[in-house]
Amino acid sequence: MKNIVILGATGSIGMNTLDVISRFPDRFRVVGLTVRSNDVKLETLIKRFQPKVVSLMDEVAAAALSKRLNGSGTEVLSGMEGCVEVARFPDCDIVVSAVVGAAGLLPTLSAIQNGKVVALANKETLVMAGEIIQKEARSRNVPLLPIDSEHSAIFQVLSGERHEDLLRLILTASGGPLIDFTPEMKEKVSPEVALAHPNWKMGPKISIDSATLMNKGLEVIEARWFFDAPPEKIDVVIHRQSIIHSMVEFVDRSVVAQMGLPDMRVPISYALHYPERAPLSLPSLQLEEIGQLTFEKPDRKAFPLLTCAYDALKGGGTLPSVLNAVNEEAVEAFLSEKIRFVEIAQVVQQTMESHCPQSIGTLDDVLEADQWARREGQLWISKYAA
Ligand code: NAD
Ligand code: MG
Repeated sequence: MKNIVILGATGSIGMNTLDVISRFPDRFRVVGLTVRSNDVKLETLIKRFQPKVVSLMDEVAAAALSKRLNGSGTEVLSGMEGCVEVARFPDCDIVVSAVVGAAGLLPTLSAIQNGKVVALANKETLVMAGEIIQKEARSRNVPLLPIDSEHSAIFQVLSGERHEDLLRLILTASGGPLIDFTPEMKEKVSPEVALAHPNWKMGPKISIDSATLMNKGLEVIEARWFFDAPPEKIDVVIHRQSIIHSMVEFVDRSVVAQMGLPDMRVPISYALHYPERAPLSLPSLQLEEIGQLTFEKPDRKAFPLLTCAYDALKGGGTLPSVLNAVNEEAVEAFLSEKIRFVEIAQVVQQTMESHCPQSIGTLDDVLEADQWARREGQLWISKYAA
């Protein structure tokens, strides 16, 4: 029996993880859950999975829930300290890191520092602090397993291969809902249209990142740290059907792909059962029903944030944390209709340009860059919003 903590339990990845766990009651037990503020949804999960400890970022919601649960056997914590506490819960084997955004960094780091196996969906953690995270994980021999479908695909393909035989990682991208939009059409995109991803049902932030292709940019940086591959060895190809989840080219020019219907329960289950595989009763891929698999070069002019992410990775130091933080601010401003869709990229680019990159020594350097980028980003946002 493996004991599981889920950080970000009420989200899209969190709920998919709970679906996988409930299919294997003899193998997994939920011991801890964290969420931002939805105490009502968390309460239903507590009744169903009976975790030992939960935490909410929102202190008021935590206090209300604690009162309602009095004597139930589930301890209720709150704030970032509470999330960190749940992430290092002693009686836990695997931490599923499924918070969205920079808020996932400290709890994920805490899980690693306490020797937990980490199944990572929260790509922002690796974007911000990939070097620190990998150093901590390697020095403690803590396995870091990908949940992101592209990285899970590459991880599966690389199983049993030698690192020196890897020539190129090829990340596939669906292109998101706006792939065929002209620049004029993009001027008028509403949050509702940008949120409507053609192949995946995901949380709002990653959905907007998919529409700008920033998600793929963040995944390039994520791949750099997961697979120790330099940016020149990481390519992106548009593959609208999301059937090939990613590919690896080896030195003998053999290209190996991992395929399947788009369903996050597959990579989640792979990470939870690793190094084994467990049967999942889900529909099989019928290629004859799909018909065609297509591939296109991404249009870097139409999606400038992809180039921005490569530049941040190549520049290194504080640049990836700045990229990540200002993007979070810009996406939030778009979703709350303060800025237009096309202004997300402008706010990110302008903030990147006004940043003086520094090298990263400690976690504080990362957090300072994150805070600077949010302040600077808000200045640009207020100019557009005016
Ligand atoms: P989501 O918005 O659906 O859920 C986010 C979860 O995190 C919720 O439980 C929420 O309560 C919690 N949360 C949000 N803000 C928080 C904060 N400030 N502090 C603490 N907790 C907070 O997001 P999602 O789509 O499940 O994505 C989660 C992560 O997984 C992201 O990093 C995303 O890039 C990655 N990811 C998601 C998918 C997908 O299919 N949804 C696929 C690949 C990778
Ligand atoms: Mg992905």
